[in-house]
Amino acid sequence: MTVRVLSVVSEAYPLVKTGGLGDVAGALPAALAPYDVRLTTLIPGYPAVMKALENRTVVRPMHQLLGVQARLVAGTAAGLDLIVLDAPELFAHVGAPYCDSTGHDRSDNWLRFAALGRAAADLAKDGAHGFDLVHAHDWQGAMAATYLRFDGSSIPSVVTIHNIAFPGWFPAEVFRELELPPSAFAVEGVEYYGGVSYLKAGLWAADAITTVSPTYAEEIRTPEYGMGFEGLIVARAGRVSGIVNGIDMGAWNPATDANLAATYDVRTLHQRRANKRAIEIAFGLAEGNGPLFCVISRLTTQKGMDVLAAVADELIAMGGRLALLGSGDAKVEAAFQAAAARHKGKIGVKFGYDEVLSHRLQGGADAIVIPSRFEPCGLTQLYGMRYGCVPVAARTGGLSDTIIDANEAALCAGVATGFLFDGVTPESLTKALKRAVAIYADRKAWRAMQEQGMKGDFSWSRSGAKYAELYKRLVKPVVHAVRRARQ
Ligand code: ADP
Repeated sequence: MTVRVLSVVSEAYPLVKTGGLGDVAGALPAALAPYDVRLTTLIPGYPAVMKALENRTVVRPMHQLLGVQARLVAGTAAGLDLIVLDAPELFAHVGAPYCDSTGHDRSDNWLRFAALGRAAADLAKDGAHGFDLVHAHDWQGAMAATYLRFDGSSIPSVVTIHNIAFPGWFPAEVFRELELPPSAFAVEGVEYYGGVSYLKAGLWAADAITTVSPTYAEEIRTPEYGMGFEGLIVARAGRVSGIVNGIDMGAWNPATDANLAATYDVRTLHQRRANKRAIEIAFGLAEGNGPLFCVISRLTTQKGMDVLAAVADELIAMGGRLALLGSGDAKVEAAFQAAAARHKGKIGVKFGYDEVLSHRLQGGADAIVIPSRFEPCGLTQLYGMRYGCVPVAARTGGLSDTIIDANEAALCAGVATGFLFDGVTPESLTKALKRAVAIYADRKAWRAMQEQGMKGDFSWSRSGAKYAELYKRLVKPVVHAVRRARQ
């Protein structure tokens, strides 16, 4: 039986991407196709999406979608099967998907993503489209599950938490605009700390909750990582599971990557040298003998970037160099800018978002530093291992699920793929960087780690199977109930 899934999401690579969510949403349809799952992605009609959309057909006019003029348009773009929420009033602005031109959250985000959820529920309930299940992502998609629940629909829903730190919280005033029954403003509903949290509303309503690594699924049960949702996660524990993200092995393949100065594979690692040279030129770095560390990240405290900035001098003193690509907190950016000024030719920084450069860094740097305070899954360590760019990462969430630390035993057994450290402090990070510098000096040991990472299977095959299994488990009872009702 083919399961038809409506994936409700606010970004999908290569159309719109602000981080890992976009990569995952863009990769899921192909990841699930081998398992008899047909996944259609419902996405807002941002300008980039409307421009790319081909083979359009209007599948549903929605004259009053929470008071907004909208329509749902089916089509294809970048190989994805899409249904687009075409609502110019909500999504026609050019720029970042969630922020205004000053970098602040858009003031109508509450309406934009409630509308996405409302449209998803209406579409899924309309039997003509044949959807068996709705899979909503993060707070932006989560209201789909909420509307289905309050509509009394039997369509099962899955909500995936890509980052529980973003609750999608809005003041109580928005509630009356959401067209939910008054009873929904309750602990058993959408209410959260006196306002409305779309993530909470979705987690409360969903038939299953997933998050993007088994360790993060455990961590979010605790106050330290649960960000206030730990009570709900524990209460719904029987429905929570962790499925680690895969990567798009085609888009991220060093043997064919057109973004690289030189392609290579596990037998031709020496060709990475041309990529390193390209990075040195792009970042204004002098050549050097020690390891070239890189960063490709949002520059935020979640990512531990303040701590890396604090140890920049130590990193240089131990013989390392650093090429950093990212954007985020002004204070963190300023700290790296100052470090680059102190260490001309040894630290190079580029603030902004640059997909091509992100591939180049993975293809030429020796190691990627990921000192995250929490990390639901993390993708850059997976890309790093695939590209022979060894991760130096905090032992948290998906980082600890996917990297094998280069401790003595793992090194002896030849299974080490990176460096993990406990507790995101300047001391622990410095110690991990020192370990990396020491092993880098032993060319054979370093190469063995690179090779081990490159041989790893980070494809979607295992995780695709797990999602398919979950969908089928949820859909089966519904199908049986419908059949019984018909008999
Ligand atoms: P998160 O989603 O929390 O930001 P992930 O590691 O899951 O972190 O995913 C980050 C994704 O965004 C990766 O694909 C990474 O390569 C990309 N990325 C992050 N910052 C930049 C940047 N400044 N330029 C290009 N790509 C970036």
